[in-house]
Amino acid sequence: MTSASPFEVSYGRNIAQRLGAAIGPAIVVAHPEPWEHLRDVWGSEPLALVTPGDLSKGFLDGLARDLPGADAVVGIGGGSAMDTAKWIHWRREISLHQVPSLPSVDACFTRMTALRDGSNVRYEGDAVPEMVYVDYELMRAAPLAMIRAGIGDVLSCHTARFDWELAVRNGHGPAWDDVAAAASLASICELEAIAELVHEATDEGLRRLMEQHREIGWRCHELGHARFEEGSEHFFAYCFEHVTGRTILHGEIVAVGVLIMSALQDNAPDRARAIVKAAGTRHSPATLDLSWEEIDTTLRMLPQFVAAGGYWYSLANELTVDTSVFALARAALS
Ligand SMILES: [Zn+2]
Repeated sequence: MTSASPFEVSYGRNIAQRLGAAIGPAIVVAHPEPWEHLRDVWGSEPLALVTPGDLSKGFLDGLARDLPGADAVVGIGGGSAMDTAKWIHWRREISLHQVPSLPSVDACFTRMTALRDGSNVRYEGDAVPEMVYVDYELMRAAPLAMIRAGIGDVLSCHTARFDWELAVRNGHGPAWDDVAAAASLASICELEAIAELVHEATDEGLRRLMEQHREIGWRCHELGHARFEEGSEHFFAYCFEHVTGRTILHGEIVAVGVLIMSALQDNAPDRARAIVKAAGTRHSPATLDLSWEEIDTTLRMLPQFVAAGGYWYSLANELTVDTSVFALARAALS
């Protein structure tokens, strides 16, 4: 069940059509919108149709136990569809096929499921799909804002790499890895090159963005951690969810985290900003329906949140949150 190479991916227009006929009767875990797009052209009747949402271990184990017998499970949609399908595959030992409907989904390229326990995220399980099907037309059926949010989990390399270096300098693991750190930089260069293609949701933009997610997912597995792409920008996002009790589209709140944290890191914030602007990723509080009070509270809570949660060492641990921090955050998102 182990694979020493990145996951297999198939790219094309309308390649998810008739997939149900090719795979045969299966458990389908699908978000409603992409399933609406595919249902009539899927080619088989699902043995069970699951709407993803709850990612607690208790719920997912209940699902895996109670679903009917099947030889295959298919995930269709966003991250929670991929993660739910992975858990069912792992627990039931049946084949897995993934059809991401957004280019923001790196969950189709990671082996573990991101379990949610309140605002805490924990990774468990081991899943390698038979194939990841990237259907450009299915992705373009999604709102453009959701497509343009796809850069978030690649852009995060920008701040995460800085945090990793800071952590190592302060004696915190995991150990530095030149290859992974260089790959982080290369990912940012690639994002600069494709930002406008992502903005327009072209085939090439979608493919090259998904290739970045694939590369990052594979590297996480090879390294055994995600330090090169997950740092204080993600911790900001988790802290935001903890403080407000709300969820914002992951790629968007992570992009907000990158803009703010790169400014606080004094780590080429203009570079991150240029990418976000070129890709058209929503980031202003007005477009995301965030209040400055929520952002300020998130920042105020952040040092305590990362310490209590045992998150990797990052700039968040060193932050003295005062009015100058709030001012930098305002400038970063303006
Ligand atoms: Zn992420």
